[in-house]
Amino acid sequence: MEITFMGTGTSQGVPVVGCKCQVCKSKLSKNKRTRSSLWIRHNSQNILIDTATELRLQSLREDLNSLAAILFTHFHADHVGGLDDIRIFNQRQKEAIPCYANSITMKELKVMYSYIFEKTNMGDGKPRLIANTVEEQSFNLFGLLIEPIPVYHGKLPILGYKFNNIAYITDCSLITNDSLQKLYNLDLLILGVLRYRVHPTHFNVNEALDLIKELKPERTLFTHISHELDHNLLNRELPPRVALAYDGLSISF
Ligand SMILES: [Zn+2]
Ligand SMILES: [Zn+2]
Ligand SMILES: [Zn+2]
Repeated sequence: MEITFMGTGTSQGVPVVGCKCQVCKSKLSKNKRTRSSLWIRHNSQNILIDTATELRLQSLREDLNSLAAILFTHFHADHVGGLDDIRIFNQRQKEAIPCYANSITMKELKVMYSYIFEKTNMGDGKPRLIANTVEEQSFNLFGLLIEPIPVYHGKLPILGYKFNNIAYITDCSLITNDSLQKLYNLDLLILGVLRYRVHPTHFNVNEALDLIKELKPERTLFTHISHELDHNLLNRELPPRVALAYDGLSISF
């Protein structure tokens, strides 16, 4: 199995349009972050967690040429904004692509992308999806057991996903006890960490470090990062086996 970070940025991306801060002006490629998404390759099948705003550009950059399934964390625009770009996969594969989301996300997706889900005369001119609503029940994708992990993004119930003892939890500010129990002793925790300061709907650096102390993952990578966090500066401060991810980072298992 292999995972690739398609994007590691928060909702506005980094650099932020018009911002002159040190991170936004940085020449370091690891400080350039497109909207967050993860590509999982398993049994020669490609699975995406979220369809980020830059999906087309991310697919070109990483040479993602087919898509077997999509796991949605939630419906916020930065996580679903690239959905129309899956049309090329539908056209080439000549099939609809299954997607998975909790009931709130699925309901919102059907409003935001009504042209996809309603009967139209657009034919191949629109994405074709098979909608699957999931809550906590594990399911099998191409031989990979996927366990949805319910977490809170402010007051919004969203999903993280666990597979192969790896968990992807982004846009999270609270993990209930039931979900915490599923996240101890992971091989890899991928965690959304926005900035140093407290935020009402995202973990900050200190909250993330407290969580890591509790859960004791073998390795942790931060994603969904804002322009307030400089890649090299924060990496130097972080404890061993904790680091910021960056666009294009691939890991094989
Ligand atoms: Zn987000
Ligand atoms: Zn900035
Ligand atoms: Zn969000």
